[in-house]
Amino acid sequence: MDLKTLCVHGSQKRYDTTGAISVPIFQSATFAHPGVGQSTGYDYSRQQNPTREHLEITIAALEGGVDALAFPTGMAALTAMMELFSPGDHIIVSDDLYGGSFRLFFNLSVKNGLKFSLVNTSDTAAVEAAFTPETKAVFIETPTNPMMQVTDIAAVAKIAGDRNILTVVDNTFLTPCLQRPLALGADIVLHSGTKYLGGHNDTLAGFLVLKSAEISERMRFIYKTTGACLSPFDSWLLIRGIKTLAIRVERQEENAKEIVEWLVNHPCVKTVYYPGLKTHPQYEISRRQASGFGAMISFEAKSAAVAVSLLERVKVFRYAESLGGTESLITYPMLQTHADVPEEEREAKGINDRLLRISAGIEGADDLVRDLAQAFGD
Ligand SMILES: *Cc1c(COP(=O)(O)O)cnc(C)c1O
Repeated sequence: MDLKTLCVHGSQKRYDTTGAISVPIFQSATFAHPGVGQSTGYDYSRQQNPTREHLEITIAALEGGVDALAFPTGMAALTAMMELFSPGDHIIVSDDLYGGSFRLFFNLSVKNGLKFSLVNTSDTAAVEAAFTPETKAVFIETPTNPMMQVTDIAAVAKIAGDRNILTVVDNTFLTPCLQRPLALGADIVLHSGTKYLGGHNDTLAGFLVLKSAEISERMRFIYKTTGACLSPFDSWLLIRGIKTLAIRVERQEENAKEIVEWLVNHPCVKTVYYPGLKTHPQYEISRRQASGFGAMISFEAKSAAVAVSLLERVKVFRYAESLGGTESLITYPMLQTHADVPEEEREAKGINDRLLRISAGIEGADDLVRDLAQAFGD
């Protein structure tokens, strides 16, 4: 089925007989048993709830997984996933990462005996060189946040899979509409559902999508045991958000392209980081493995003063963390998403006091460009 249709209709499972077009919100913590030793399929909402199940089936279908689990945030999803590993296990992670993932790995997971190597995963040979006998997973963000580096998912999944090592891809930036990591060989897809999937800057959510029944069984056990499950109401908001995912992503990417075109020619802009630019080092890989370049743009302003004044002067764009929603946002990664990444590491990656990140929304492109122009003082 076309992804646009899956977004709207998702799960075909029906939970009531009224013909309701919108899936009901089953606001129930528990479910009565029809008889001793019998179940309706629902026992207690930590394990499963019909509204959440509808959402999970939809997400699994969009990503092409056998199962999907819905969490209250992206970080809760990642935290639960770390329970797959044991003390001594080694994990290779992209060296340009969402700040929260970095914080989890290097502040909490290390305390539980896990070891991490930061590797530029867009260099497949560097990934291969980092394997140790203890390596259990490669965690990739692509494109990365905020430097927009792209990793060849199929190449990494191949060398990892040959050694029985899991490949995990954070697909938050591109969504299944533009990139489907499981089809490229990955084992697990992570999402911050707060971003494009929810899509309206109003709800927090997270997902893990699993390729095999074996990982699904292990994750379902962790899920019901650790208990970070998405509420019925927030599940419903996500179902509603996903109905328009395909058209939102399409429009957001169109807007992003107009903004990029304008930014690259602006005298106050030093560098634009966007995988859709022919000058991007992984432009060809992006074209091959994704059906679009997305709506996230980072750029380096001429000076810190220019960057700060831009943040203070935008009117249509809002200066706020997060991304992927209907509203265009602009962020200052150094002070916001990446505040907890050590300064030396940040600077080496180019996350400096001149770097800004844009998430293009669905507004009129002309208004967005005009807003940037007035903020630059053109
Ligand atoms: C936001 C984000 C996360 C974390 O998700 P939350 O829903 O905020 O917990 C993880 N990865 C990426 C790429 C993100 O943008």
